[in-house]
Amino acid sequence: MNDVDDVYDVVVVGAGPGGSMAAKTAAELGLKVLMVEKRQEIGAPVRCAEGVSKEELSSLVDVKKAWIAAEVAGAKIYSPSNEVITLSAEQAGNEVGYILERKIFDRWLAKQAAKAGAEVMVKTTAIGIEKKKESLKIKLRRMGEEFDVYASIVIGADGVESRVGKWMGIDTTLRLNEIESCVQYLITNLKYDMDYCHFWLGHNRSPGGYIWMFPKGNSSGNFGIGVMPSMAKKPAKAYLDDFLEKEGVDTTHVVEVVAGGVPVSPMEKASAERCLLVGDAARHADPITGGGIINAMKGGKIAGEVAAEAVKRNDFSAKFLSVYDRRWKEDFGKTLERNKALQKKLLKMSDETMDKLVRCLKDCDLKDMSVGSIVKALIKKNPKLFWDLKDLFL
Ligand SMILES: Cc1cc2nc3c(=O)[nH]c(=O)nc-3n(C[C@H](O)[C@H](O)[C@H](O)COP(=O)(O)OP(=O)(O)OC[C@H]3O[C@@H](n4cnc5c(N)ncnc54)[C@H](O)[C@@H]3O)c2cc1C
Repeated sequence: MNDVDDVYDVVVVGAGPGGSMAAKTAAELGLKVLMVEKRQEIGAPVRCAEGVSKEELSSLVDVKKAWIAAEVAGAKIYSPSNEVITLSAEQAGNEVGYILERKIFDRWLAKQAAKAGAEVMVKTTAIGIEKKKESLKIKLRRMGEEFDVYASIVIGADGVESRVGKWMGIDTTLRLNEIESCVQYLITNLKYDMDYCHFWLGHNRSPGGYIWMFPKGNSSGNFGIGVMPSMAKKPAKAYLDDFLEKEGVDTTHVVEVVAGGVPVSPMEKASAERCLLVGDAARHADPITGGGIINAMKGGKIAGEVAAEAVKRNDFSAKFLSVYDRRWKEDFGKTLERNKALQKKLLKMSDETMDKLVRCLKDCDLKDMSVGSIVKALIKKNPKLFWDLKDLFL
């Protein structure tokens, strides 16, 4: 007989934005929830540039000043030969608007889960899952001690290195062309326009990815790079260092370094019997921007709701839980799919063509960065270029 204290409706593995949102939602809906986090501190170290869309974030939580590091008016995008296009925050997508202080934000979100009734255990690593007839036995390790808890369902919010999916029979292996390898410095005394996020494009600078600078207030900013390992000839850090040297950025003021991977290839199914995957574990980051905070939170909320419904019906079958896949696909899945198709085409675009495209679009009064607006502008300004690039839009 198990001790009643170690039996939960849901165990959430990982306390990033996806896990905390799932734990909070499930607890609010009356479930007995445990959220475990392997690190000793929620939110640190930060492996993120911390940019999010204001509108999207506000639709998920009440925004608090305490965790907003900076607010930007939009984005400046630099072509390979430094043609610049300036976009408003609304035009620029789900990474531009607020720059969070994730050390505070992630912790705040985990506290919201705790407030709703979820138990939270830090320095606790999930090390395996055994499927029992009526439940899951989840093996945990906390400060050297191993113990088991039991749950009807597990939510894997364990990030890009997810193991929960594999334990539960979902193939989460990432190939070298399905991940961006990232390095980022938090640099002070920067001399850029701090009202904007900055993005530098070009395969020479960052093969299969881009370089960014997101302001964090007081002349400091997250300066980072993502490269696709299958296309890069050297490590991401070497590309970033080369770029910073060429830009004349003083790197004697780096106060933090982070490295990490972002999945850029969504998967078809993020559910299985007694299991739901959210956020990076489900590869829900955007294939073009690599932004994953908002989708992790959205997926976490949906997963919490689906888990509550499963408990109510006492149905943890793969068939019932596939409602989760249907719901995230209806919400942000179509955008992921569309951006994956676009990313494949952009990866083949030469730096020269990218220059032409940015040059052509920079003086256009685009309503938004939708394919429709871009096509209209291109046809008007440079029909030949539109014809050359038609594959990108069809
Ligand atoms: C350099 C870089 C820059 C980025 N910039 C942006 C950006 O500007 N905007 C944006 O939207 N996205 C950005 N992203 C992506 C974003 O960080 C992720 O998409 C987001 O954090 C995903 O949230 P998550 O909750 O799924 O996973 P995570 O935030 O990765 O959280 C997973 C948690 O699970 C824990 N964990 C893992 N295994 C276990 C285990 N076995 N047991 C217990 N706990 C475990 C981890 O310690 C971690 O805390 C960036 C990523 C990188 C690497």
